[in-house]
Amino acid sequence: MSGSEQGLTSFDHTSLGQRVLFGSHAAVENTARVVADLGAEHVLLVAGRSSAQAARDVAGALPVVATIDEVAQHVPAERAEAAVAVAQSSGADLVLTIGGGSATGLGKAVALRTALPLVAVPTTFAGSEATDVWGLTTDGVKQTGSDPRVLPRAVVYDAALTLGLAPRSVAASSLNAVAHAVDGLWAPRADPVNRALGTEGLRALVPALQRLARGQDDLALREQLLYGAHLTAVAFASAGSGLHHKICHVLGGAFGLPHAEMHAIVLPHVTAFNAPAAPDAAARLAELFDGVPAAVGLRQLLAGLGLPQALREVGLAEGDLRRAAELVLPSVPPSNPRPVDAAALESLLHAAWAGDAVTAVVTAVVIEEGTAP
Ligand code: NAD
Repeated sequence: MSGSEQGLTSFDHTSLGQRVLFGSHAAVENTARVVADLGAEHVLLVAGRSSAQAARDVAGALPVVATIDEVAQHVPAERAEAAVAVAQSSGADLVLTIGGGSATGLGKAVALRTALPLVAVPTTFAGSEATDVWGLTTDGVKQTGSDPRVLPRAVVYDAALTLGLAPRSVAASSLNAVAHAVDGLWAPRADPVNRALGTEGLRALVPALQRLARGQDDLALREQLLYGAHLTAVAFASAGSGLHHKICHVLGGAFGLPHAEMHAIVLPHVTAFNAPAAPDAAARLAELFDGVPAAVGLRQLLAGLGLPQALREVGLAEGDLRRAAELVLPSVPPSNPRPVDAAALESLLHAAWAGDAVTAVVTAVVIEEGTAP
């Protein structure tokens, strides 16, 4: 029985300690407060160019000694090296990141090497700010690990800072947040506490995304997405990486696919593969989609949000699928509810690459598992 399907007889859960301040239009005040409370007087600011305005607004009155505005997805190792050098030469006593997961990720790389305290002000829904997970990419290989030094001491959430993000980017980023909770249901350390947090996060995210798909978008919707993204990231940090995240680590690191879109495309296929062997997770997820199987609901959401539906649309070549499967296979968690071999993985990846309808996959899996009526 997988961790996601266990009862309440016993579990071993660790909650990470982090201060969280949530409030729209309050980032300036809240960031100043946490920086002062940490006693910092020399701030290293990490903020990508798309967050330059937010950085000027939020950090304008802070004691910034150096600024890094070059950030990239999956944290290239050479960028991390350069940022560590800036942190050391500037005498920084705190790292402040303002931006999406790329800015947070670079700040984490600095914190990992220097043990400087980290404060994160997210402007996307990627959720990295709520985890102790770092990532670094060297020569196309993405390495990840967890370390208490990279968990931001404080996170300042301000949904108004996400208003510069186009609805399409909001959709992709929020589906990345959805993936944290869905994959968490069958991840290696799934337990009743992270399952509850993840489910509550999904209860915020899914209806908000359905509204976004109907063309609605306002500050309240962004608040709901940010709250859901926080909860699902906390759940992910606790539950660990399941099959979905192992696949996406390889696709992001080795093939440079865009992080949020890639997660959004792969998730329905992993869900279609695993859900028939994880009935508790399947029932929990189907409830969010009014009884529709989660894989189908996720796929409909993806289409409704106007996002790419196939990995071939975001830059993966068909000829890379076998190598991708080979790279993923050794990292598949033994806790996965269904056994995964090279052929199953390649077929799952092919379906995600081609953008196959998941209904067909669900049917095939159900019949194969012998659970069809
Ligand atoms: P990102 O930070 O690259 O941002 C996505 C896009 O949004 C970029 O084009 C960026 O320029 C733009 N953007 C960001 N803030 C904006 C703003 N305020 N206004 C306008 N545009 C804005 O990507 P992401 O999806 O936020 O994060 C992906 C990265 O985070 C990946 O490297 C991924 O591996 C990492 N990640 C890590 C964890 C973890 O726990 N360690 C969790 C999730 C994601």
